Amino acid sequence: MSKMITVNDLHKSFGKLEVLKGIDMEIEENEVVCVIGPSGSGKSTFLRCLNLLEEITSGEVIIDGDNIVDPAVNINDIRSQVGMVFQHFNLFPHKSVLENITLGPQKVKGMSNSDAEKIAQPLLEKVGLSDKAHVYPQSLSGGQKQRVAIARALAMNPKVMLFDEPTSALDPELVGDVLQVMKDLADDGMTMVVVTHEMGFAREVGDRVVFMDEGIVMEKGNPDQIFDNPQNERTQEFLSKIL
Ligand code: ADP
Ligand code: MG
Repeated sequence: MSKMITVNDLHKSFGKLEVLKGIDMEIEENEVVCVIGPSGSGKSTFLRCLNLLEEITSGEVIIDGDNIVDPAVNINDIRSQVGMVFQHFNLFPHKSVLENITLGPQKVKGMSNSDAEKIAQPLLEKVGLSDKAHVYPQSLSGGQKQRVAIARALAMNPKVMLFDEPTSALDPELVGDVLQVMKDLADDGMTMVVVTHEMGFAREVGDRVVFMDEGIVMEKGNPDQIFDNPQNERTQEFLSKIL
């Protein structure tokens, strides 16, 4: 096994507000780690630090051997290696589904349009939307939008995929298709960090579960351990509210 992500004593403050108070984490290649925890505990901030959407206050984040905190590191390289999917999809509304997917490879990797489309087509198939290449996001359901967002992130050929509550904004009947795409991705061996309230997914697909509270990792373990036999009082309290 080889390490894909190592986080050492990660701190993140917004002004005087310290949101991440020393996070340590090691994630192996091919591993799926699910992050759970109450609102405001720093889960999104943590993910955003992993691809430099936030400036890191102190500590180390090493991705596949590169310390991304090093000022010499190229932010665009990191962002193409570490794909991210957001709760609210963030698709470009004035671009077609296909253009949403081909834009990154063209802009960031300097690919030609036709090469980018060669990458995009099989990805659209993978997420079950080959017939939607030429429509605009507004005509898609939330679940379809989220699957486009996943295809868009995959088009950069990332080493790691981060998911920030990818199904929280979806109508319940649309959640399953998105989770299935994520499960397929995990089965293909993608290294994934998934912030989610979908405990069924965390249990089935997650190799490990991390419980965050107030900017620290309160507890971590395999899913059965965390869900059936949580040791920390805060974990117990959180799970009793959501399960
Ligand atoms: P979670 O995703 O677990 O709900 P967040 O990482 O979004 O938590 O937020 C953690 C804390 O950081 C919250 O108190 C939030 O208000 C604060 N925070 C997040 N982003 C910013 C920002 N850009 N500026 C100031 N405070 C922020
Ligand atoms: Mg969040």
